[in-house]
Amino acid sequence: MSGIYLVSFGQIQPGLLNDLSEELGNRLTYPVVSNYRHTIPEDALNQERRQYMASTFLSKLRRVTGTDSSKLLGITEVDLYSTGLNFVFGQADVGGKASVISLARLHPQNADDKNGLFQERILKEAVHELGHTFGLEHCRDHHCVMHFSNGIAQTDIKSASFCARHKAEFETNKRPVETEQTMQQSRDALG
Ligand SMILES: [Zn+2]
Ligand SMILES: [Zn+2]
Repeated sequence: MSGIYLVSFGQIQPGLLNDLSEELGNRLTYPVVSNYRHTIPEDALNQERRQYMASTFLSKLRRVTGTDSSKLLGITEVDLYSTGLNFVFGQADVGGKASVISLARLHPQNADDKNGLFQERILKEAVHELGHTFGLEHCRDHHCVMHFSNGIAQTDIKSASFCARHKAEFETNKRPVETEQTMQQSRDALG
């Protein structure tokens, strides 16, 4: 069965994962099938930067077997970076299977509104990276969840929803497996 698999790299609050899994299922109307655990890949650590290379997390996820038609979202508390960038909130294979988000920079400064704001930011980054795995690119609309966040202010400005164009694209791309099979069958039938 294809779906979204949440994979925690290292320790993540269980309540947080449950909430995210429920929110994603509702918003994307896509099954969030399971929670997996993975150790933090120490080969991703850059000692000088004290940050982890995001692409290493993606390659670990690509190797998870039995999830071929699924999307995997890695979640970690460690700070991630990518070549040429000081940090990244997340990274994903566009139109692929693997995506990852870091919670390190999503923690609110103000402890008072901690829970609501933290969850909201996590949801936005999760939908954004998963959106990439469904083939969506960045959006110019600042409110679209596919807008690129350079900093937390941009994450807070955007919504957790797709703009109309990306919503349509997401709905089309959500069923690639069935579509491909149908096309294959019809080609076979003709040939
Ligand atoms: Zn992006
Ligand atoms: Zn958009």
